[in-house]
Amino acid sequence: MTETIERIKCLIIGSGPAGYTAAIYAARADMHPVMYTGMEPGGQLTTTTEVDNFPGYPDGIDGPSMMVDLQKQAERFGTKVRIGMVTEVQLSNEAGGIHKAQIDNSNWVEAESIIISTGATAKYLGLPSEQKLRGGGVSACAVCDGFFYKNQDVAIVGGGDTAAEEATYLANICKKVTMLVRGDEMRASKAMQHRVTSTKNIDLRYNTEVDEVLGEQVVEGLRMINRKTGENETIEITGLFIAIGHKPNTEIFKGQLDMDEMGYLITKGKSTKTNLPGVFASGDVQDKEYRQAITAAGTGCMAALDAERYLSTVEKTEEKEEITAR
Ligand code: NDP
Repeated sequence: MTETIERIKCLIIGSGPAGYTAAIYAARADMHPVMYTGMEPGGQLTTTTEVDNFPGYPDGIDGPSMMVDLQKQAERFGTKVRIGMVTEVQLSNEAGGIHKAQIDNSNWVEAESIIISTGATAKYLGLPSEQKLRGGGVSACAVCDGFFYKNQDVAIVGGGDTAAEEATYLANICKKVTMLVRGDEMRASKAMQHRVTSTKNIDLRYNTEVDEVLGEQVVEGLRMINRKTGENETIEITGLFIAIGHKPNTEIFKGQLDMDEMGYLITKGKSTKTNLPGVFASGDVQDKEYRQAITAAGTGCMAALDAERYLSTVEKTEEKEEITAR
């Protein structure tokens, strides 16, 4: 007996704001989207407490509730949301070609178009005390959570552009920002370094790492260690921001889709088109710069519009070929 493989018109991989927005638009355009949520249904926002910067929520909303609302909205128009991981893909490089995706290392589905919104994962230091206090004062997003530490003392770890940008962002809101750079120089661009060093309330510490985050339920302090001298120092803080980079979730696309040196998917011009016809990318998986829920949602909308145009062009071409063949 031959097994029938499900054919999906629009397959959406990933369930953050980009994926759900793509789903809302695709479903309303009768593309019958099917979404596989991935390991962390709802994406990075489910690990955030309060979302205060997404337009339309005057009183803010907590991340998990927002993702439930987005799911309901996508399902209202017929999106099928399925818990599952896409573990392998075989992408076609022909216009109108059929792409294949394997779910949970088991069954395969076929897709006429794919929207990839698998996001990026923030890197953490991996210290037990840091992991214990995630959501209790340890955050990987200053723009999302900085506001809760208004006029308080905080610390930030990292020496790249993200850390430099977030340190200056926090310095505008917080009383004092201690910045821990593990080496004896910052990796950030010279301009960003200048912004950090010329901001009075940033206390920049080179050759310094986190030894332990202090506090039981919430962050109360930080024990730092100087890598050169081996000396410890303890400071009182209420928030700790980790800005040591993100890892885009693109492992399964390696060798098939164009990526930059860090693994972010490359999209063409202002569109969400990847190097393969019918495969689109939206959200943090293709954006290392803005990384906001609202920008991810915006590119999710773009991906659905790009996929819709692609599918209608393919359909028109197929119709023409049929007429010519008759
Ligand atoms: P980067 O990889 O550039 O920098 C990571 C930083 O974290 C480095 O300083 C690194 O130190 C440090 N680090 C890594 N692991 C640890 C650890 N375990 N403990 C302590 N420190 C650690 O990441 P970014 O997120 O800053 O930037 C990613 C990319 O995005 C870059 O290309 C950047 O230029 C770009 N970007 C551009 C922006 C802009 O143009 N406005 C804004 C934000 C990002 P070390 O140097 O010692 O390895």
